[in-house]
Amino acid sequence: MPRSRFFYNPSMSAALPSYDEAAAIVSAHAVEAAHHSPAVERIELALALGRVLAQPLHADSDQPPFARSTRDGFACHASEASQHKFLKLAGTSRAGDAPAGPLPKGHAWEIMTGAPIPPGADAVLMVEHVEVSGDTVRLLPPRTVKPGENIVEQGAQARQGDELLPVGSTIRAAQIALAATCGYATLDVFRKPRVAILTTGDELVPISSTPGPGQIRNSNAPMLAALVTAAGADPWILPTAADNAEALDAALAEAFTADMVLISGGVSAGKFDLVEPALVRMGARFHFTGVRIQPGKPLVFGELSRSHAAANRTQHGTNCYFFGLPGNPVSSAVTFLLFAAPILGALSNRRDSGPRFALARLAADAGKQGKSDLTRFLPAFCTFSAADGHLPEVALVPWQGSGDLAALARSNCFLVVPEDAGRLEAGTIVRILLP
Ligand code: AMP
Ligand code: MG
Repeated sequence: MPRSRFFYNPSMSAALPSYDEAAAIVSAHAVEAAHHSPAVERIELALALGRVLAQPLHADSDQPPFARSTRDGFACHASEASQHKFLKLAGTSRAGDAPAGPLPKGHAWEIMTGAPIPPGADAVLMVEHVEVSGDTVRLLPPRTVKPGENIVEQGAQARQGDELLPVGSTIRAAQIALAATCGYATLDVFRKPRVAILTTGDELVPISSTPGPGQIRNSNAPMLAALVTAAGADPWILPTAADNAEALDAALAEAFTADMVLISGGVSAGKFDLVEPALVRMGARFHFTGVRIQPGKPLVFGELSRSHAAANRTQHGTNCYFFGLPGNPVSSAVTFLLFAAPILGALSNRRDSGPRFALARLAADAGKQGKSDLTRFLPAFCTFSAADGHLPEVALVPWQGSGDLAALARSNCFLVVPEDAGRLEAGTIVRILLP
């Protein structure tokens, strides 16, 4: 059976990769996953939010296209204005007016924010800083003005033809604005990877059903679909597979027509955890089967080589990455963010894919931490609205273990407890994993 150095054996925790080791393995595969030429599609700019640029964005003209005023006030010769002489008004320019001028000596030019600077002027006096008398204006002493003040020169932000955004940039509001300013009504973006979501478990019933004795509703399918969507990919929810070999074989064969596969449940050491053997039957390669983290220790990561026929139906070539996510909801969420999101980012050709960490200050004592050979990711709530000069404050959300969906839903991040943490006192600076 093809196994990597790291193969999950519940009695041999020490043989499992640490969080850092597992993250390094995933990062290396993310680099490989990015080495392909995925399909590109052209979309309306208004529909581009969250997509990834497949073309570099170029400036179609100098930015700004003309020297413009950043203030309402009076364009002037700085040297004259700084002598506090009364300057005669030579004209007025509003935003939208064509460039006017030139500005004669001894004169000023009334100007509004965004309007072109008349040639000859080298500064703008703010309207708040001047005295207007009849058709003259002067800078109020003792204030002086330096050449260039309140003016953005033509091309100061970018020159015509400059690359403003590289391929792989995620398109958010600012990128949409930049594309609009450069005249892009449409953008070439990478097609979204399609992610199969296969939930397994005899106990699972659909949302609309009332669970019978021993049954639970399938909450991982919609949660994983939401995580996939938030990561900018297309979720594809398959029917839940029962915990038997035939059902799993059939479901996996279908799932592996996607660009990436997420399997939920069935990867622990229980008698009915049959996902790994089914993957082995398909000829999967395992990069690790278990990580020294909590929750999420039984996580499985690997890839499957597909026939060319199967590969032709997808955009991402012959290799398909898969994750076997432990079925407990908090485990599924954490392992997705830590490990599946970076591979998905690479498949999407994103330059900036997760996981995202930040620093925060513990608001309350988090007590003594248990087992020291696991990195823990505990549901927590961070108040990101920190006062100036202070780190955001984070507190643990009380939880009943990795099945506690209510705690997960009340959290907005995960507190990272390192392997050798010991006691975590209020005030300690800690890392948090952001969703
Ligand atoms: P497993 O990883 O299959 O051993 O499942 C671990 C725990 O997660 C069990 O309590 C399952 O009932 C629960 N679980 C598994 N799959 C799901 C799911 N799709 N939605 C909600 N809970 C699940
Ligand atoms: Mg199960």
